[in-house]
Amino acid sequence: VKSIAVLTSGGDSQGMNAAVRAVVRSALYHGLEVFAVQRGYQGLINDDIRPMDLRSVGDIIQRGGTILQTARCKEFLTPEGQQKGADNLRKRGIDGLVVIGGDGSYQGANKLSKLGIRTMGLPGTIDNDIPFTDFTIGFDTAVSIVVDAINKLRDTMTSHERSSVVEVMGRHCGDIALYAGLASGAEAILVPEVELDVHDVADRMSDNFRHGKRHSIILVAEGAGTGEDIAAQITARNGIEPRVTVLGHIQRGGAPTHNDRILASRLGDFAVRKLIEGDSGKALGLVNNELVATDINTVVNTKKPFNMNLYDLAMRLSQ
Ligand code: ATP
Repeated sequence: VKSIAVLTSGGDSQGMNAAVRAVVRSALYHGLEVFAVQRGYQGLINDDIRPMDLRSVGDIIQRGGTILQTARCKEFLTPEGQQKGADNLRKRGIDGLVVIGGDGSYQGANKLSKLGIRTMGLPGTIDNDIPFTDFTIGFDTAVSIVVDAINKLRDTMTSHERSSVVEVMGRHCGDIALYAGLASGAEAILVPEVELDVHDVADRMSDNFRHGKRHSIILVAEGAGTGEDIAAQITARNGIEPRVTVLGHIQRGGAPTHNDRILASRLGDFAVRKLIEGDSGKALGLVNNELVATDINTVVNTKKPFNMNLYDLAMRLSQ
């Protein structure tokens, strides 16, 4: 490849900018021309494509969101939309594309790969729901935001001997709840991957309060129920009225942690090197601190395994 482009797609996540920066700077370092596509696949169809230089990605490594913006684009689901996107790249001589996004975005990259554009997918989502990478770009930051919020809740809860239900993001993947729950000593973690009877949670809570516990945090991934609903079930069972906090889109904002910036930088550079090698249709990740490339088909057809060991540990330590 001589000329590549980069885009961000799907939901934004912290560290996408660091990934864009790494792709652009690494491509220039290797003597490639590099372009940015604005607003994901929508920009590809609209031909919203501009050349990038070293300075175009200055002062963004620390910023949340994505300077390239992102979009959900229905037209790109059609073969005509995909062809238009590929044609717009080709008429500029662009034969490689780095897509930073979630599994939907990966499928789009796969389609372009079949149309002869070499593509690499980078896992940009806070949910950590992509397999064949230990972590996705943005997950570490989202977890630290949740942990920080729970620290603040704990201060006020301990003073008042209260309990809190905290609802976090994660429709299909409970990793934000799991990692934030383990890191903040949550008494219960409700995730879509594990069946848990809220009555048992409520009974354990009242037991723990009887034995001198002064506060309790229940973490709920949105895929396991709403915070309000879980709190109502707890109250109906044991009479305790937890306060409900829904963290929402706060989890997607703010400066990326150093872990996310480093992950994004390594994966962005790896994507460029894989394209130079002539590889295509791969999703990139970091497994046991090693860079790995996996066929996008395999990645989008595999469910990320849930870390039951960590879950059990969190439960053992939160009596
Ligand atoms: P998130 O995990 O944050 O939701 P995502 O990348 O999974 O991110 P989607 O909205 O599913 O978000 O996908 C982003 C875009 O990718 C879609 O708007 C669409 O343009 C494109 N896309 C999704 N699925 C496909 C597909 N099967 N074929 C072609 N393009 C697709």
